[in-house]
Amino acid sequence: MRAAAVASGAAALQGLFLTHLHSDHITDLNDVFTMRWVTSFAPSPLSVFGPPGTASTLEAVEAMLAPDIGYRLGHHDDLTWRPSAEVAENTQGVVFERAAVRVTAAATDHSPVRPTVGYRIDDADHSVVIAGDTVPCAGLDELCRDADVLVQTVVRRDLIEMIGLPRLTDVLDYHSSVPQAAETAVRNGVGTLVLTHLVPPPAAGTEQDWLDQTERFHGEVVLAHDLLTLDLGAGSAALSG
Ligand SMILES: [Zn+2]
Ligand SMILES: [Zn+2]
Repeated sequence: MRAAAVASGAAALQGLFLTHLHSDHITDLNDVFTMRWVTSFAPSPLSVFGPPGTASTLEAVEAMLAPDIGYRLGHHDDLTWRPSAEVAENTQGVVFERAAVRVTAAATDHSPVRPTVGYRIDDADHSVVIAGDTVPCAGLDELCRDADVLVQTVVRRDLIEMIGLPRLTDVLDYHSSVPQAAETAVRNGVGTLVLTHLVPPPAAGTEQDWLDQTERFHGEVVLAHDLLTLDLGAGSAALSG
């Protein structure tokens, strides 16, 4: 839905990258799978990159959609093929190369969720790292070295400890806190740190509290929101949207 809102529908996607198979990261996959199928003029498998387990997840998505697939095949005479995906399961190295764009994966640490990966996207001039859910680790450092932008999922240790729900406190085990994200950025010479997947969600007016916890990092820090756009064109990242 977010991609569609920036006029990049499912049929236009050249690759879909999964960092791991936690529900909050994959439960909209079925929409992309279906919409690519029904909005393409010819068979066009969805290209999916992810850790081991991704292929069987896509098979389960297709199985879940069996009634829908039947309805649409029955209704549309010009739709004569089933939806499909081409899945590449990797945890290390270059996973995608097209024109000037290269995507590199490395294993991250979100244990006991295993395996998980982060991605670094490079073109001729810029580099952006998508960390996913992970604590600081060697694989993440490898991706982040001198990157222009690090997009890191974060949680607030102080707020979660105050809430005191054991199941929520458990998430501290395997996510980066805000200071940890800042330390990863400092250690690797990152230019701009984008904080996303904010847990618990910031109450209105408390955004500065999140930014204050990145004090060790002297680059630009951005609290992400849906449809955020970062312009990397002119040296440092510029914010819009
Ligand atoms: Zn996760
Ligand atoms: Zn998550």
